[in-house]
Amino acid sequence: MIETIDIKIGQTAKSRINELDFDNIPFGRVFSDHMFVAEFDNGVWKNFEIRPYEFLSLSPANTILHYGQSVFEGMKAYKNLNGEAILFRPLDNFIRLNKSARRMCIPELPEELFMGGLTELIRKDSQWIPDRPGTSLYVRPFIFASDDYIGIKPSDTYKFIIFTCPVGAYYSQPVRVKIETEFSRAFEGGVGYAKTGGNYAASLYPAKLAQEKGYDQLIWTDGKTHQYIEESGTMNLMFVIDGKIITAPTDDTILKGVTRDSALTLARDWGIEVEERKVAVAEILEALKAGKVQEAFGTGTAATIAHIAEIGYDGVDYQLPPVEGRTVSNKILAALNDIKLGKAEDKFNWIH
Ligand code: PMP
Repeated sequence: MIETIDIKIGQTAKSRINELDFDNIPFGRVFSDHMFVAEFDNGVWKNFEIRPYEFLSLSPANTILHYGQSVFEGMKAYKNLNGEAILFRPLDNFIRLNKSARRMCIPELPEELFMGGLTELIRKDSQWIPDRPGTSLYVRPFIFASDDYIGIKPSDTYKFIIFTCPVGAYYSQPVRVKIETEFSRAFEGGVGYAKTGGNYAASLYPAKLAQEKGYDQLIWTDGKTHQYIEESGTMNLMFVIDGKIITAPTDDTILKGVTRDSALTLARDWGIEVEERKVAVAEILEALKAGKVQEAFGTGTAATIAHIAEIGYDGVDYQLPPVEGRTVSNKILAALNDIKLGKAEDKFNWIH
């Protein structure tokens, strides 16, 4: 049971909800009426407040603007078939946020602060959760260093904010991806497993180069040898070969995806064999050439499952079988949607 925290609850003078066309929601640009804010100062988290979504005022010397000491999370709230607001596995996002925070020298959040702020905010803005098929309310919790100080050291003050953003149905087209063998996203001993801004900034340039060559995204390989496959864009990556799911283990270079864990848990429960082990580029190339890769897909909060249509390596593009016949990834996608809508039993207690 979560202890309650004392939250001061404000109210916007004028809701903006009537300005939103629920049939046509632009991605990531419309924000709900309220946000949750907490501050860290003198060694404690305090001043818990829900207040109107608004701009922040920062000094140009604010440390976050220069050195990137920040962590964030991404999850979704849905309306189930009974019209109830639900969150999918928020505790896993809480655990991952604190894991990222430790690595970035950011003070961890108590569970009651994260869950209390989150639950109250979703309750307050629940009418912002779209209910058309495939739509949801994206939830963005983040913590950033907020000292006005240009020396390099862990900040003494931080802000924890949660805001939300209605998002439309995500009809993901099967994607073309390129196995990256020059640039790296992460290194052993680095911050690849943390959800921190710099990882995303560093991925933009290699991804842009790949996009100029007609690819949608990259498949990252290990930073040392580029011989092992890690993840793809902002998704974890899975292959189906000989009816088995093969995916890289989430060590310190790969983000431990909540969707990844959900997909693997379901697959194991259905008796599908799962191999979490190092995946050599050479092994995948050989299987692609032999036509043995039955499915390849990314897992992540944004699309849940993103089918991969084509994989490029060293100037050669390998086609994968049509999406319609992909029994494993399509079954996982349908099962996750059914659990979120309350159509299927929540056997693993994922719904909050
Ligand atoms: N890898 C990276 C680098 C990501 O940013 C994300 C998105 N959070 C994922 C994997 C997938 O994680 P999740 O399933 O928790 O969204």
